[in-house]
Amino acid sequence: MKNERTIVVTGAGRGIGAATARLCAQRGDAVVVNYARDAASAEALAARLRDGGAQALALQADVSDEAQVLAMFHRIHAELPPIAGLVNNAGIVDVAARVDEMGLQRLHRMFAVNVVGSFLCAREAVKRMSTRHGGHGGAIVNLSSVAAKLGSPGLYVDYAASKGAIDTFTVGLAREVAAEGIRVNAVRPGIIDTEIHASGGHAERARELGAQQPMQRPGTADEVAQAIVWLLSDEASYTTGALLDVAGGR
Ligand code: NAP
Repeated sequence: MKNERTIVVTGAGRGIGAATARLCAQRGDAVVVNYARDAASAEALAARLRDGGAQALALQADVSDEAQVLAMFHRIHAELPPIAGLVNNAGIVDVAARVDEMGLQRLHRMFAVNVVGSFLCAREAVKRMSTRHGGHGGAIVNLSSVAAKLGSPGLYVDYAASKGAIDTFTVGLAREVAAEGIRVNAVRPGIIDTEIHASGGHAERARELGAQQPMQRPGTADEVAQAIVWLLSDEASYTTGALLDVAGGR
């Protein structure tokens, strides 16, 4: 299949990012499966997408490292169709802690990956998609969280605040580039059954907390990915600056 446009999905080796990459490929797009550390998962997913007929490249870049982000976007430009979409999905949590227990290194890392990483990737995507820079337009979807509204006290207020920054970033960038052919939206997942909870030291969190939500279950990565690909698509052509909760009523 000859793909005409490329969607870049950060942190796509597993979870919501991997589900999004799969749906984008099914919808006929070339896909960048970005990863930071887990090359094996990202390479395996890219190979599966290629077997399904899509163009797909697994590209390493820690989104918080400017040089790595620049190198990734240079490779995309050289090897794939023009970028028409970016999903700022890469994100981290840390172990549960109160604010009065959080060290400087934790705070720097949280904001470097979740916020600065999203800015860096969006900057590079806007330079290529904006009609102001000779591009043909496109769409950006940022992964926020309902934690931005709830604040996550006693768990990870740092994470919640980083997602609050993503909400503001989404609204501001959406208005900044609205007349340049680029739409910018955010999805705010609730409790989704992925490995992020294990990385925060509580592998059973999705199943335990999910049962307490209005829909009495956690969401799946695919359910979030469906909202993301809709926001990326022309079907969402008048939607920009939106913060879409995909949270089962949470
Ligand atoms: P996940 O299963 O932990 O996957 C996160 C992915 O991000 C991993 O593949 C990881 O790749 C990658 N990543 C981490 N740091 C990175 C970096 N510096 N640069 C590039 N990639 C990096 O997470 P998920 O649950 O799918 O979450 C995806 C997004 O949704 C995150 O932004 C998260 O905050 C948000 N979200 C999730 C939930 C939920 O309940 N799951 C709820 C609300 C919001 P490597 O292994 O290669 O490092």
